[in-house]
Amino acid sequence: MTERAETAPRRVSIFGSTGSIGRNTLDVISHLGGRDAYKVLAVSGKGNTDLLARQAKECGAEIAVTADETRYGDLKQALSGSGIEAAAGKAALIEAAEREVDWFMAGIVGMAGLAPTLAAAGRGADIALANKECLVSAGELFHREIESGGGRLLPVDSEHNAIHQVFDNSQRHSIERIILTASGGPFRSLNLDEMAAVSPDMAAAHPNWSMGVKISIDSASMFNKALEMIEAMHLFDMRPDQIEVIIHPQSVIHSMVGYSDGSVLAQLGTPDMRTAIGYSLAYPKRPSLPIERLDFARLARLDFDAPDESRFPSLGLARRAMEAGGLSGAILNGAKEVALEAFIDRQIGFLEMADIVENVMDKLGTGGEAISIEAVYEADDTARLLARELVANRSARPLVN
Ligand code: NDP
Ligand code: MG
Repeated sequence: MTERAETAPRRVSIFGSTGSIGRNTLDVISHLGGRDAYKVLAVSGKGNTDLLARQAKECGAEIAVTADETRYGDLKQALSGSGIEAAAGKAALIEAAEREVDWFMAGIVGMAGLAPTLAAAGRGADIALANKECLVSAGELFHREIESGGGRLLPVDSEHNAIHQVFDNSQRHSIERIILTASGGPFRSLNLDEMAAVSPDMAAAHPNWSMGVKISIDSASMFNKALEMIEAMHLFDMRPDQIEVIIHPQSVIHSMVGYSDGSVLAQLGTPDMRTAIGYSLAYPKRPSLPIERLDFARLARLDFDAPDESRFPSLGLARRAMEAGGLSGAILNGAKEVALEAFIDRQIGFLEMADIVENVMDKLGTGGEAISIEAVYEADDTARLLARELVANRSARPLVN
């Protein structure tokens, strides 16, 4: 990365700008000086080309990319006369991600985020990582790409961001455990029969956080926490047995680190992703943000509960993937993405998502060693194929709503 004058605006790209993380990122940038402080190079989206074009014009981006080639005409039209370049498709996304920036928001949802984020990492950008699939599927390979590029990896997922804030690298040897907090989602207190009958709309209504549909449903099934366990293992180089999960319905403690003297350090705040985004953007400084401050008197209490793995088998599946290593993370994630789509499309019920993932993991084992990104994509493809077969073969049972 070339040296730049202190006063020059920081060059940033926001991938997944039309999503929940992306919109919050643009909001944080506007609070931290907007165009005077940041030069937005690229923004990206997929289906929402109107918003993408509007964002590109508002922040003065050089290029806007939609992942959907069929939307190229819409995007070009919406940007006509603005001087902003329009592009579409996976290759265009990677090409835009390779354009040199200081900071890159990885806010694309799912495995689709891996290739552009790897491209930006290889070019030396600091990676603000919201997308979890990069680490879940490609763990060490992703780290290697960051190292070869020379940028920093700054976690945005609120739990990992919290851990980053209280993880004292100079005392690494005395860190015993990481405790990920989980809200437990909207079905925390439902029994298995009730859970079997929930609809995608019910699952998408998260009690504390406002997020994209997929991550909200993953929170309800705790597959989100499952991905986060694997993500934490890779991010902080922990053993599987050092990662714990505790249900904390208020989502005020965003996660904790336990040290060998018995101390537990935690990061707290109101549930607002802009804290984590701002932290990653201003790091190592603390930005000034209009986040609602915690009022402890009003909070009055914080609750904790052990997770029930019989109702949330996703956590056990994550532990299994962490212990097995190899390509297990890619397999778990690929199968999970297919099962999630099938649940959203009402092809399978809520509890069947975990059944499908477990079945795929049983059949594919570790999938071999994660020797290359190609191997990761192959494991992902195989897992998806098998998961699709399982979805298609499931007994034709009427589903709710
Ligand atoms: P959203 O669904 O709100 O947004 C997803 C973004 O990715 C949109 O810009 C969408 O474009 C784009 N996108 C969708 N599919 C593709 C594809 N195939 N190729 C390229 N781009 C695509 O998701 P979130 O913002 O909630 O989440 C983004 C990532 O951050 C996820 O990995 C999530 O797990 C993680 N995360 C999110 C948190 C949150 O609070 N939202 C918290 C912690 C992590 P379009 O909308 O135009 O179709
Ligand atoms: Mg999270």
